[in-house]
Amino acid sequence: MNRIEETKAKIVEIIQREYRNGMVNMFEGNVSARVGDTILITPSQVAKDATTPEMIIEMDLEGNITHLPEGMKPSSESKMHLEVYRLRKDVQAVVHNHSIYATAFAMNNMPIETKALTEVNMTLGVVPVCAYGTPGTERIYADLKNKIGNGNAVLLANHGLLTYGPNLEIAYSFAEGVEKIAQTITIAGRIGEPSNIPDEEIEGLRQYGSMARDKAIAEALK
Ligand SMILES: [Zn+2]
Repeated sequence: MNRIEETKAKIVEIIQREYRNGMVNMFEGNVSARVGDTILITPSQVAKDATTPEMIIEMDLEGNITHLPEGMKPSSESKMHLEVYRLRKDVQAVVHNHSIYATAFAMNNMPIETKALTEVNMTLGVVPVCAYGTPGTERIYADLKNKIGNGNAVLLANHGLLTYGPNLEIAYSFAEGVEKIAQTITIAGRIGEPSNIPDEEIEGLRQYGSMARDKAIAEALK
C-alpha cells in the first residue's frame, strides 16, 4: 500500500471510530489528512459505517478536485479543512464533528476552559470559539485565522468542533479529549461549585503540559 492508500484507510478507521463512540451521527462530520500537497477527505452524504477507502476524495491545497470517486460529492466543509492546512503548516490531519457536549459549548458561544481541572490545563489550555459563519460558505472559517493559535482545537460558534494535529490519531485524540472535558465541566457545574486550582499552579501546569504534549507528539510521530 502506498501512503495515499494507507492514509485513506486510516481516515475511514477514524470516522468509523467517531461514529461508534457517538461523536458523529450517520451523515455529519468529516475527516481529512494531508499527504504532501494532496488533501484526502471523506465524502459528503455517505453513511459513516458504509464509508470505504475507495470513496475518499482527493484535492489540492486550493480545493481543486484531483480524484473524485464515482458517485461521491465533496463536503461543503472541505474549504474549512483547507483553511486549517493553509494556516498551520505543521497540521497533517483535521477532524470536524458535532459531538454533543463540545457542540453545547459552541451553541452558547462559550470557550471550553476551567481552572478546576489539571488535565485541561496540561493538554488543551483554552478551546476558543470562532465567530459564527454560515456552513458551506467562506464565513464559517473567516475567524479561524484569529483563533487557531498553536493549539489543537477550536469551537465553531453555533455549529461544532474542529481539531487538528500532526497525524490522524492525534487529531482524533483531541476530538475525544475535548468532548470528555466539555462533559466533565458541564457535570461539575451541575452538581456544585468547581473549586479552582491557584493561578500560579495553573501557570506551572500549562508550562509542564505544553512540554509534555510536544514530547508526546514527537514520540507519536517517530
Ligand atoms: Zn459541521
